[in-house]
Amino acid sequence: MMPDLLPIPDLRDEQVLRRIAGIRPYRLGGIRLEADEQTLHGRLLVHNYGHGGAGITMAWGCAEDAATLVRQYAMRGVEVAVLGGGVIGLTTAHELADAGYRVTVYAQALPPNTTSNIAGALFLPAGVDWGANAAEQDVFIGRLRRSWARVEALIGEAPGVDLRTVYDVDATDNHHEDRWLEIGLPTEVRRVDELPLPGAPRSGKVYRSLFLETPQYLPWLLERAIARGVRFESKVFASLEDVRTLRQTVVVNGLGFGAGPVFGDSAMQGARGQLVLMKPQPLPYILQHGWTYMFPRRDAIILGGTFEPGVLSPLPDDVDCTRILSTHRSFFAPSLTEHHA
Ligand SMILES: Cc1cc2nc3c(=O)[nH]c(=O)nc-3n(C[C@H](O)[C@H](O)[C@H](O)COP(=O)(O)OP(=O)(O)OC[C@H]3O[C@@H](n4cnc5c(N)ncnc54)[C@H](O)[C@@H]3O)c2cc1C
Repeated sequence: MMPDLLPIPDLRDEQVLRRIAGIRPYRLGGIRLEADEQTLHGRLLVHNYGHGGAGITMAWGCAEDAATLVRQYAMRGVEVAVLGGGVIGLTTAHELADAGYRVTVYAQALPPNTTSNIAGALFLPAGVDWGANAAEQDVFIGRLRRSWARVEALIGEAPGVDLRTVYDVDATDNHHEDRWLEIGLPTEVRRVDELPLPGAPRSGKVYRSLFLETPQYLPWLLERAIARGVRFESKVFASLEDVRTLRQTVVVNGLGFGAGPVFGDSAMQGARGQLVLMKPQPLPYILQHGWTYMFPRRDAIILGGTFEPGVLSPLPDDVDCTRILSTHRSFFAPSLTEHHA
């Protein structure tokens, strides 16, 4: 018997709050997380950037690995510079402070003015290359697992972190590896021939995944880093020469998309993502349908989206945002017809 249909959103024009866009730090070949003793002439530089559409997802596992690389080189108490104050820089700074280092974050912007604030954010390894071969993919999955454990442990402690039910509709533009659902992190995974959605029958999967409401989570992360003694300095790095002027013997590069120009990495392609934000409505589920997705948050319903490699304008495009809205409207079409009646 078909279960009750899920409640659907009111997507009328008067519900639209705003349209936004951000450049995901998408890197061909995947995340760069490695030690580099050449670039700063013998000082340790640890790269931690290129997380694409999955920086909120991967932050803790990557921060642990970045801190491990620092530990192999420098004793506790050493001064460390972290470049960048988005989710990657803040999480890495937090790990390093916990490991006993004296950390200063240098950044042009902090939350709420980073790309990390634009993210939804669902815990989902999408829009990021998992690695070029099996060994690299194993490393990626290891970081994913450790990130999951760290975020799951924050439920009840960090505001805006919880588990949500995801309706993942089969789509031709599926953006995440099928392995995501096979590695045992999302829980209660079920394959369903007919999801409880209005309109034509749609197959897909239902599962529980972590969700991080960035408007609550990122300020908490920033406060927690400050509470651990992390210092912050406003700084713009125009080139590598600016990085070389830093006094610290250990530098962690968490510049996100900014790492490409500053460190001359041509693999940093970037990928614009656009969202339409609607007035908040109480919907008890997340919808995933390829790059079409809906995340209900307490401040807004996030409607996505786009993944546009090489598009570097941080501005939303009217045509694309109208299409995002109309795609969602037609997805929920039968009942929306009632809304418009
Ligand atoms: C529309 C959209 C939806 C997304 N949804 C999700 C999601 O659901 N789940 C998920 O996990 N991820 C999602 N992401 C991806 C996520 O936002 C990124 O992977 C993440 O924010 C990257 O974090 P970061 O710290 O590397 O970069 P940023 O947040 O961009 O931080 C970079 C930091 O470096 C600083 N900086 C950069 N260049 C310079 C410079 N030259 N000098 C000084 N400072 C500099 C910036 O000021 C900032 O402090 C989404 C992204 C977008 C755009």
